Amino acid sequence: MSLKADLTSTDLAEIRQSALGAADPLGIAAELAAAVDAGRLSDPDDAGPALVLAAEIAESRSKLDAGLRYVDRALETYGKSDDGPAAAARALRARLLFRAGREDEALAEIEPLRPLLTQDTEAPAYISVALAVGGRARLAEEWLTEAVQEVLAEREGPEPTSAEDAGLLFFLLQQRHRIRHALGRQHDTHDVLAERLETKLANANAQAAAAGSSDDLLFWPQAEFETLVTRFPALTEVYGADWDEHRARLERELVRRSGPDVVLVPGTVAGLEAAGDPSDAKTRADYVSASTDHISWPPERNSPCWCGSGNKYKKCCLPRSRG
Ligand SMILES: [Zn+2]
Ligand SMILES: [Zn+2]
Repeated sequence: MSLKADLTSTDLAEIRQSALGAADPLGIAAELAAAVDAGRLSDPDDAGPALVLAAEIAESRSKLDAGLRYVDRALETYGKSDDGPAAAARALRARLLFRAGREDEALAEIEPLRPLLTQDTEAPAYISVALAVGGRARLAEEWLTEAVQEVLAEREGPEPTSAEDAGLLFFLLQQRHRIRHALGRQHDTHDVLAERLETKLANANAQAAAAGSSDDLLFWPQAEFETLVTRFPALTEVYGADWDEHRARLERELVRRSGPDVVLVPGTVAGLEAAGDPSDAKTRADYVSASTDHISWPPERNSPCWCGSGNKYKKCCLPRSRG
């Protein structure tokens, strides 16, 4: 693949979507760096994000040295800036250092970012991911707990009732909850609040996704899929000839719609039949609209795939979108 002569921000977003599933992702990373060198970015401010993207691509192929070279160059372009993108790039650098076994350097990179936990809504995610990758989930838990307490102490009024209402606190609670599940902790009151806000947000997202009144994001788990197409063979036209094709179609549709609120609605044959005639498209759309069940997308590359196969997303449905 050869990149276009001049790269816009939209091009970069598209490359981000497609590069990891491409035949030669490292070639794309090298071309991104070359485009920066040659001044072939429509917006010079995209140099940092382009190099960060190159570093992430290299990381995805476990090319840690290349990843570090790209991220170092990204940090050079950010200069002394310590705003969100620069901080996220530092967290990426820490993650690469952890992966490369350079723990002390990784910690030295990540520790100065800690105050951002109570300032930047994206910090809880990139900091906890870096620490978890470095086998420091307990440290992440400690930092997040302290940040939650700090934000709660400053917060006035009643407990938040929605993710929007909670703001930064939501992102802290969410990451803390995730990390504590990974550590096998019992729920505490912060986790209970996190789960309540997460459920509310997920339901709102599922309703928003369903409001388009189509069954495009209706997902049939494997056993349900087999039952569905055995009983209603005509539906293979709609959902795919087999389960692999079904998942590939969904993954492509998810990539196409890609945004922070995309969710899948898992279906059951019994549920659909209760809603009416399964061969009727309107029945299926209504069934999706009425569902409060959801699967959020995309998972982390190394997390279990959304389809429930038990395989890592990067080895399961992520590559299907390229098929
Ligand atoms: Zn939980
Ligand atoms: Zn999958």
